[in-house]
Parts: sequence; structure tokens; C-alpha cells
Amino acid sequence: LETIPCCMKKEKRAVLWFRQDLRLDDNEALHDALGHSKHIIPVYVFDERLFKGTTYRFGFPKTGKFRAKFILESVADLRRSLQRLGTELVVRVGKPEEIVFNIAREAEASWVFCNRERMKDELFVQDQLEKKLWSIGQELRFSRGKMLYYTADLPFPVSQAPDNFASFRKEVEKMVGVRKPLPTPDSLLPLPSNLPAGNMPALSDFGHAPFKADPRATTDFKGGETEAKERLHEFVWQSAGIKHYATQRNSLLDENASSKLSPWLAQGCISPKTLFHEVALRAKEEKGTDGAQDFVTELLRRDFLRLMGKKHGNCIFNKGGIQRRPDRTLTNDSSLFMRWAEGRTGAPFIDANMRELNMTGYISYRGRLNTAVFLSKELKVNWLMGAEYFESLLLDYDACSNYGNWNALMGVGSDPREERSLNILAQSRRYDPKGEFIRLWLPELAALPDDRVHWPHAMSDGEQRSFGLTVGDDYPLALANLSR
Ligand SMILES: Cc1cc2nc3c(=O)[nH]c(=O)nc-3n(C[C@H](O)[C@H](O)[C@H](O)COP(=O)(O)OP(=O)(O)OC[C@H]3O[C@@H](n4cnc5c(N)ncnc54)[C@H](O)[C@@H]3O)c2cc1C
Repeated sequence: LETIPCCMKKEKRAVLWFRQDLRLDDNEALHDALGHSKHIIPVYVFDERLFKGTTYRFGFPKTGKFRAKFILESVADLRRSLQRLGTELVVRVGKPEEIVFNIAREAEASWVFCNRERMKDELFVQDQLEKKLWSIGQELRFSRGKMLYYTADLPFPVSQAPDNFASFRKEVEKMVGVRKPLPTPDSLLPLPSNLPAGNMPALSDFGHAPFKADPRATTDFKGGETEAKERLHEFVWQSAGIKHYATQRNSLLDENASSKLSPWLAQGCISPKTLFHEVALRAKEEKGTDGAQDFVTELLRRDFLRLMGKKHGNCIFNKGGIQRRPDRTLTNDSSLFMRWAEGRTGAPFIDANMRELNMTGYISYRGRLNTAVFLSKELKVNWLMGAEYFESLLLDYDACSNYGNWNALMGVGSDPREERSLNILAQSRRYDPKGEFIRLWLPELAALPDDRVHWPHAMSDGEQRSFGLTVGDDYPLALANLSR
């Protein structure tokens, strides 16, 4: 890299390593880096292990096509925003601990700044990078940009955080305020002229063919901070989303029933603090709504699962979870698993949800709950297969939220009382009363009347003929009898 001109000799440089914080607004690491140096080198590395590798146990693509595309869009948006401020985003593909290290060494940076991550893949990378930087007298400085509440503001150390959400919420909400979002810089100095910014990779570089969004998707999930702000505006101000959140959030077809902000939150395109303050503003105008309160509770649940991940470590990824109590009756039956994954179980509510996931990368909380319980309680299949499948496909995959929720449902989470057994047929009738969601994703059942679409197996042969459907031929026989 170019030698630093004499007039700048005393100015130290800082590398800003973007990770799952792909935004400029309220970005702790950016703010901290600017507090130390005006000469910032912003870098993003597509980690080849995450974008080209497979999940640990069952070999699904580690980052499926929906999330890969979303992240590419988010990084491109970040690059455009940095260009508007006068600089560039350095983009590379490879191992961040090597690439960020080389850039920091060659630029003679004094520090690398990044937002701290908590779980195993990310910890491995940040630990390796830190060791390498120490070896040349440079430092990795961590900021905390992920949560609604700063751990430093919590009324307990992470190691003593309450293990159940109700107590956690009670202790936190009444004692701690949510800090204001940090300001966004107006301009930044350009990169050293001999540091090439690098080209953006294409989806095909990660082994995925280009694809078009399924028109049935509730939401057009396009990555980036710009899109995140638009989605927030739509949910909070332009629609009645937040107002009716408390009563409508389980609706399966309405885009504004819930925020659909999870993919942007997971990649850090928007911060939970920003959401909190925007929602609070709306609630003030509306003179308070239950919707705002319930929405903030979910952001708090996200914090809680993150703290549980930190407190209990990698056991959330094991069959026995935080409780270390594996259910040994669960099997790795791949044919049952494939029927579940492909949406061919013969349980329409489950199949509709799994096909939505396969075609869009998103399913609702209700969908996740029912499909997870069906896999483990009805099919008796190892829940880790389901969790890894979600990890691969979900647009909003987040290690703590995904494995934390699976732990809770399986009764092996921090609070074992959360274990769920559900009447899936009753759930189907309650949350999709007219069968519209099922018919949308299972066109083979489109002709069935409302009282048959949830459980076509109850129809006689004659009735099936009258609707032009043969169960076992046009639609699979049921793997589990949900009507018992
Ligand atoms: C088996 C299972 C796996 C899950 N995996 C993930 C995951 O990988 N990533 C993820 O973000 N969420 C996960 N969830 C939680 C939840 O389903 C999604 O956060 C939610 O459906 C996202 O839609 P939304 O943005 O419209 O949520 P909203 O209802 O609008 O909620 C607002 C935000 O709060 C957070 N949130 C809401 N519910 C939960 C919850 N139960 N746990 C943690 N955070 C929550 C999300 O960040 C969400 O965007 C999982 C739930 C289950 C049951």
C-alpha cells in the first residue's frame, strides 16, 4: 500500500470490519472507529466457509440462496452509502481472519474495529484475527451493536442473567432505558489510493443460480439498510401494522401483520434501538398501543436468547440443549426428514409452511412453531436436522434466535417449562380459518371446501372424486394422524 504522506504521518488508521452490522446508522463500531481515527478503511469479507461450506452435521448449504442474495444486496447497498460519504467498501471473498489481517498490516492500521459476535463460527474468526493482530502489535477493538440493551446497562452480569424470559423481562424493562441511536457521519476520508476496493461477487460464485422471487411471498425481502428503513416506515407509519400487531401478528398472509424485519435485523441492516425509538414515537402519537408494547417484548426476547447463547455457550447446538438432556428416542430418519423438508407429510398446514419456506426463505413464527413441533413430536425426528435446515434456508437465520427457539420448544432450553405440545390441526383451523394459506401453497388442494382443506384424509373416496383429488396420489397420505 502507499506510504503515508508526511503531513499524515501522525494520523493513525483504523480498519472497520463490517460483519452482521451492515449499516451506517447507529453503528457502534463505526462510531468507535471514528473516535480513534479519521482514516478509516471499511472492509467486508464474504467468509468462504459460510458462503460455500455446509452445515456441521447434516451437510445443507451453510448459507442458502435466499440469504446469500439478501447479504449480497445488503453489502452492495452499504457500498453505495459509503461512496456517497466519499469513501469505498473494500470487498473480498475468503477467510476474514487472513484478509482483514493483511489489510490492517499493509495499511499499518493501529486498530481493527468490529461489532462483537457471540457464537461459535463468528467467535472462531474473531479470536483468530485477534491473535494475529496481537502478533504485530495491533488490536481488535470490539463494540456492541446487536442488542436493544447494552450488556453494561443490564442489572446483572451475563453469567447471572435469569434463565427464564418472564423474569428477565421484568428485571430489565423496569430498570433500564434504551439508549438513543448513534449519529451517522456526514463524510469519510477516501481509501488509500493503492488499496483496490474489489468487485462484488455474484450469487453464482457461491454456487447458486440466479432466481426470481416467488410472487406468493408476503414480502419483497431486498437486502440493505435503505430497504430496511423503508420496511420500517411502511410497518410503523404507512400501514396499521404496529397498531394491530398485538391482535394480527399471527396472520399468515398479510405482510403488515408482523414487521417482517427479521432478515434486516439478522444482518444488522437496522438496529433494534432504531426500531424501538421509531415504534415509541408512533405509540406516543397513538397515545400508546398494545401493539408497540408486544413488539418491544419480541425485541427483548431476541436479546434474551442472545444472552442465553452467551451464558450457556455452544450447548444450544447440541441435541440435549442448555439442559444437556437429549431425547434419545429422536432418530436421524432421513426419509421422514425429507418428507418434512419438502412439504410432503400429508399434513396440509405443515406442508404449506414448509413449501413457503422452500420457495421464499421466510415463514411466520406460527409456521416455525408448528413445523418444529411436528418434526420432533409427531415424526420423532432429531430436531437438530430441522434446526440445520432452517439455518440453511432462513433469510433471517440468527444462531441464538434459531437454536434458542428450537431449544425452548424441545424443552431443553434455559426454561424447560416452555416445551410445547400442540394440537396442529386445531392450530391450522384457528390461524388459517378459511384455508387460504393452505390453498396458496398447496394448489392441489385448491378445490377443497374450508372444512376439508385442513384434513383431506377424512374424505370418502366418493367425496375425493367429487373434488377431483385422490389422496395418496395427488396429495400424500398422512405420515401422522393429526385428527386423533
Ligand atoms: C423454531 C424457530 C426458529 C426461529 N429461528 C429464527 C431465526 O433464525 N432468526 C430470527 O430472527 N428469528 C427466529 N425465530 C423467531 C421468530 O419466528 C422470527 O423472529 C419472526 O417470525 C420474524 O418475523 P417478524 O420480523 O415479522 O417478527 P415480528 O413479530 O415483527 O417481531 C419483531 C422482531 O422481534 C424478534 N423476534 C420475534 N419473535 C422472536 C422469537 N420468538 N425469538 C427471537 N426473536 C424474535 C425478531 O427479530 C423480529 O424481527 C424462530 C422461531 C422458531 C419457533
